[in-house]
Amino acid sequence: MRLVVVGADGRMGRMLIRAVAEAEGCTLSSAIEREGSAALGQDAGTLAGIGALGVPVTDDPLPAFAATDGVLDFTTPAATTFFAELAAQARIVHVIGTTGLAEPDLAKLAAAARHARLVRSGNMSLGVNLLAGLVRKVAAALGPDYDIEIVEMHHRMKVDAPSGTALLLGEAAAEGRGVALSETRVSTRDGHTGARRPGDIGFATLRGGSVVGDHSVILAGPGERITLSHHAEDRTIFARGAVRAARWAFDRPPGLYGMADVLGL
Ligand code: NAP
Repeated sequence: MRLVVVGADGRMGRMLIRAVAEAEGCTLSSAIEREGSAALGQDAGTLAGIGALGVPVTDDPLPAFAATDGVLDFTTPAATTFFAELAAQARIVHVIGTTGLAEPDLAKLAAAARHARLVRSGNMSLGVNLLAGLVRKVAAALGPDYDIEIVEMHHRMKVDAPSGTALLLGEAAAEGRGVALSETRVSTRDGHTGARRPGDIGFATLRGGSVVGDHSVILAGPGERITLSHHAEDRTIFARGAVRAARWAFDRPPGLYGMADVLGL
């Protein structure tokens, strides 16, 4: 399968280049960065620290999308919605790891999914998607007497909060409870907040150092607490998951899929 990596010079972009090079039956057909990037013209393999692959980084996605089977995209919401439109025109696979997408961005992805095969997840790792399944079950079993709080920590460079993974876990908890996360979500507490509203799903965000991604879902009931946690030690878990998603989507009909579909959960 031929794959393009967009945002090739990013933390995830470099990981994705490595993951494609290591995956049997996959080849890196192009590597894209934004106009003016210092990485333009450099060999993608060299950029990723694995030796030259003969694929120079370019800022022109059109010919790259026309000559590939899929795109791996961990960039920004603005870039991702733009790439989704191109992927729809080219009728290829678009794997989206980008987080921080707002409702209008999601509407654009839904439109693109009429022609492209989109796989989007706030976390592409097997462990977190399994954790989401557990959270759904535990939230359903315990009921509203148990307050749900989600705590996450990431490296100091992360620009969006709560993390896409924290929101994914919040969605799982809300689904388990049969409520909408949009109506129960509390992402900030400061000053005189008053008592906790029953049924709220709270989020707490920590930022610092080089933490790849720590998430805990706490269910606090009368006299006891259950904590379900995941610790990402290495970004390769996300990159490998993205390549797996692209391969899975290769022969699917157009649509918007998630990692639960890819992993058959
Ligand atoms: P990053 O290091 O900032 O990488 C993003 C890259 O995209 C940068 O190189 C950036 O270039 C490039 N870019 C931005 N706009 C572009 C455009 N229009 N065309 C081409 N390239 C463009 O960030 P990161 O840590 O790799 O994370 C990227 C995203 O993935 C974030 O949303 C993060 O939350 C998410 N993420 C998701 C998962 C998951 O499993 N779903 C895991 C980890 C991270 P410039 O630096 O020049 O702007």
